[in-house]
Amino acid sequence: MINAKLAVKPHPHHQSIVKISETVAFGGQEIVVIAGPCTVESTEQMEIVAHKLSTASVQALRGGVYKPRTSPYAFQGMGEEGLKILAGVRSRYNLPVVTEVMSISQIEAIATHADMLQVGSRNMQNFDLLKALGKAGKPILLKRGLAATIEEFVMAAEYILSHGNPDVVLCERGIRSFDNYTRNVLDLAAVAALKQITHLPVIVDPSHAVGKRELVAPVARAAVACGADGLIIECHPEPEKSVSDARQALSLEDMADLVESLKPVAAAVGRKIPEELGVGSKPTPLCLSAA
Ligand code: PEP
Ligand code: MN
Repeated sequence: MINAKLAVKPHPHHQSIVKISETVAFGGQEIVVIAGPCTVESTEQMEIVAHKLSTASVQALRGGVYKPRTSPYAFQGMGEEGLKILAGVRSRYNLPVVTEVMSISQIEAIATHADMLQVGSRNMQNFDLLKALGKAGKPILLKRGLAATIEEFVMAAEYILSHGNPDVVLCERGIRSFDNYTRNVLDLAAVAALKQITHLPVIVDPSHAVGKRELVAPVARAAVACGADGLIIECHPEPEKSVSDARQALSLEDMADLVESLKPVAAAVGRKIPEELGVGSKPTPLCLSAA
């Protein structure tokens, strides 16, 4: 039994809906696909990504500006400048944006520019950060820790809920195990279990789970088949040139194909991949119109 009060289901059919914009919500019949690069690198990169993805059934953009890197010498993200880039594509393409928060001091600026704040695996048990996010006033995407049990994961969500924020989405992104052929081991059973234990929406990050682009699509389809409410997937206009996580980045074409391939899987389990959002509002990317 998990000793949570707010994160557990009060009755078996209870399901929370977490809304991140007027039209995008997690936990309903529609599967939400979030896509974008690991790291925001430039306006041009994000414009190209947003332009392409707004014609696919992608509901939100991702892109890190504060990056948790293993090495202190690796690129740490664009910071506030990157947030402004995200805010620009968000309004031009009418797509909500999700980006990672690493410390309490970043919450205010990120909450001003983004629609959803991501807590990365490395911070899943940063309890002070979780408490502060209870007051952030924006939905939170909480990723499972690298070695967190399901109970620890649910209790981390409980921190945010119990500090005043009801809008939490859980994300299974693979855990560490003995086999390093894939970057992590995706725990799809955790998705099914979490859907039974909690009323919170549960999504899957196949990119960080597998770490290899050729494995992302089949695993994403399996996640939808087993009940995930959404996916967060990394892609890049030039995958090999990604400043981080290049090996797992999909091309934008492969990303669009992947979303198409989810449609029959979603239908088979009574779910739906929504139509593209940007209908009638697809500006030419800034960098291309300037040329
Ligand atoms: C990310 O989403 O870019 C990321 C760093 O993910 P995780 O925290 O799951 O490793
Ligand atoms: Mn990444």
